[in-house]
Parts: sequence; structure tokens; C-alpha cells
Amino acid sequence: MSSVEFVEAMSLGAQGEGASQAAELFRKTFGSDPLGVWSAPGRVNLIGEHTDYNAGLCLPIALPHRTFLAMKPREDDQVRLVSSFGSGEPETASLDGLQAGGVSGWTAYPVGVAWALRQAGFDQVSGFDGAFISCVPVGSGLSSSAAMTCSTALALDEAYGLGFGGSDEGRLTLIAAAIQSENDMAGASTGGMDQSASMRCQAGNAIELDCRPGLSALESVKQVPFDLASQGLELLVLDTQAPHQLNDGQYAARRNSCEDAAKALGVENLRVVADQVAAAQDQQQALEEVLDRLSDPTQRKRVRHVITEIGRVGEFIQAFGSGDIKRAGELFNASHNSLRDDYEVTVPELDTAVDVARANGAYGARMTGGGFGGSIIALVDKGRSKPLAELIAQEFERKGFHQPRALAALASSSAQREA
Ligand code: ADP
Ligand code: MG
Repeated sequence: MSSVEFVEAMSLGAQGEGASQAAELFRKTFGSDPLGVWSAPGRVNLIGEHTDYNAGLCLPIALPHRTFLAMKPREDDQVRLVSSFGSGEPETASLDGLQAGGVSGWTAYPVGVAWALRQAGFDQVSGFDGAFISCVPVGSGLSSSAAMTCSTALALDEAYGLGFGGSDEGRLTLIAAAIQSENDMAGASTGGMDQSASMRCQAGNAIELDCRPGLSALESVKQVPFDLASQGLELLVLDTQAPHQLNDGQYAARRNSCEDAAKALGVENLRVVADQVAAAQDQQQALEEVLDRLSDPTQRKRVRHVITEIGRVGEFIQAFGSGDIKRAGELFNASHNSLRDDYEVTVPELDTAVDVARANGAYGARMTGGGFGGSIIALVDKGRSKPLAELIAQEFERKGFHQPRALAALASSSAQREA
């Protein structure tokens, strides 16, 4: 049996693989030099899943794996784009008179960012030529879409002199455009965690992201040290490569269920009740009381996941920060079980991978990202990632699943200019 592929990250900087390959693709496609190359990372969420659209908490790190965009602005409203991931042929769109949903396919993501910036009143943003190179696995729950929209937002910011990219506060404007592009142009509903992670994470840190609307940069993000090496640990990210199921409808159904529950409970969002439960003397009883007010059993399960998952974010930060890795692992496990049993967003590949990890020495393991396929993470001792990935692959083969692939996750830096 072949061994599991570990997807390597491309090297950074003006001479790095990412910048050179993106610039090369640009030159080959458009016949001139790009103005520059910008990059943005994919992310992996440590804990706090399906909480962002409930104004909750989550804890992503940026991956070393990034999307690189070589770009040059144009005088007109045309956008011409090429990606190493696509057919290799450039695709075109026009920003003139563009409406929400007016572009289909992958180019909707970058074109949508320019459209969203113009919608926000930045009329100086106009057309551009762009070439994308990426090592972020696509559609694996590791946010290749945000890596694409955020690299585009940063490139447009600099090329058109908007001046938001240089500060954490300014980046909120670019994040909003990236979110709007995914939601309204690509039609892929997103709660905002991915774009914030790609734009705001720092190397060596996770961000504790508070997704309540209207918070300032300072209020919405706390940098949380996430140094695996000093604790003798590794974080295995394993992409199950499970064929994506009908996840669009399922994601929307989960969101609707949460919104309906918030209405039934008379609160703006489920964060409000999560905070009430967290503040109670007897949290278990407070949770039961909230759930008792909901008549629909499915809705009760969804709400139980959201409330307990928001609570686990702070607990995980506390446990990991104080070196209680056993407890941190238990919280990973509790998160996965809740996503499997209450939120019902796992698939057999995710559950199998998690089970194998737990049975083979992981402190804890959980699915990460939206679910219905995608990736798991497992917290393991240094040196255990590779053998564990092999064991999971063997079990996948036995069950007739696709061959998985893996990534080594180190907390990396946010979107930046490369060249
Ligand atoms: P995820 O963000 O978890 O990878 P999504 O379904 O949100 O999964 O986004 C994947 C989509 O983003 C792809 O189907 C494609 O349309 C677009 N995409 C992401 N990265 C690239 C890329 N490098 N080249 C072309 N399209 C990309
Ligand atoms: Mg995505």
C-alpha cells in the first residue's frame, strides 16, 4: 500500500515557490509582468465549529499552505483570471453592471471581491488580470475559498490604494468584502471565520474570534499562543477526500434551524443564550431550561451543540494554555461527538478517521470545518502524525473509502504581499 501523501506548503517571499510560480503563470497567460504577488493562507479551526454564524466563538490557526495571486490592475472593468487548479485557460468577467450571482464557477470568488468593494463605495476599484497558484487543498474544509478571496482583497487594496491592508482594524473592511463575495457572488454561505483567520492570524498563535456583529478589531480577536513544539506535540490534519455530499442544502438547513431557535427563544442569536448558560451557577440545569423551551427535538439537538461548543472554546484555551493536554484532547473529542450526534454533520469517513486516531494514542480528535466530508484534526505526540495517518489510510482502504492525504499544521501568518 502506498504511503499517505503529506501536502507540502510552498515557500514564501519574492524568490519563494509561490511567488515565482504565480508570476510565471501570469507572464505566460497575459504576456507581461504582474504588479506584484500577494498570498493568503487556508486555515484549520481548532475548536468552535458551526458557531461563527451564531455570533459565537471559534479558534482557528492559519495554515502554512497558501494561495498566491500574481496581479496587475487594468484601466477598464474587465477581469481576466487563470488558476493552476482550473483548465489553464483564462476566464473573463466584466465588473460593469455586475449583479450578485452574476458570475458562476470559481472566478465568482475573486471577481466577487472587486464587486463587493465597489458595492461598499470604493469606486476606484476596477478590472484586473490575475493568476492563482495554490497548495491549499480545495473543498477539504481548510478554506481554499477564503485563501482565494483574501489574497484578492489584499491585492486590490494595495493596487487601488485603499489603505486597509496594513492594519488589523483596516482589514475588517477587506474581510467584509471577502465574506460578501462568497455569500452573494459565489452563493456559498459562510459565517466569516475563514476570512478572519486568513486575514488576522499570526505565526505561532491561534485567534480566539468573537463573531458577535459590530465588534472592533480589538474586541473581536484575541491572539492565543499555540505552540505545539514546546509541548512536544503535533497536530495532524487529515483530509478524508470523502466525496462532498449535498452540503449546500445541509449547511443552510443548520443555519436556518439556529435562526428559528433564536427566534423561538426570543433572542437575537444563540450566543445570547450561550452566555446566559455560561454565567449560571448550575450550567447543566441552565442548558436544560433553555432546551425545554424548544418544542422541536431536532432544534433542541442543534441548540445543544451550539451552546456547548461555544463553551468548549474557552475551556480548550484554558486547558491547552495550562499544559493540560489530556483535557484539551477530551474537549476535541466532545466537540466531535457533539457534531456527530447533535449537529449531524459528520460522514462515515470523518467518524472512522477520528475513531482510529483515538484508538491509537491521540489525545483527542475531531472533524474540522463545516463537515459533510473534509478534514479531521488529531492532537498527538511529536512524531506520531505520520504513523497515525498510515493507520487511518489502512482502515480507509479496508472500508473502501478514498485514499486520504495529510498536512502538518503549524500556526502560520495571515495574508501578505510576497513580491
Ligand atoms: P474550502 O474553502 O473548504 O476549500 P469551498 O467549497 O468553500 O471549500 O471552496 C472551494 C471552491 O473555491 C472551489 O470549488 C473553487 O471554486 C474555489 N477555489 C478555491 N481555491 C481555488 C484555486 N486555487 N483555483 C480555482 N478555484 C479555487
Ligand atoms: Mg470555503
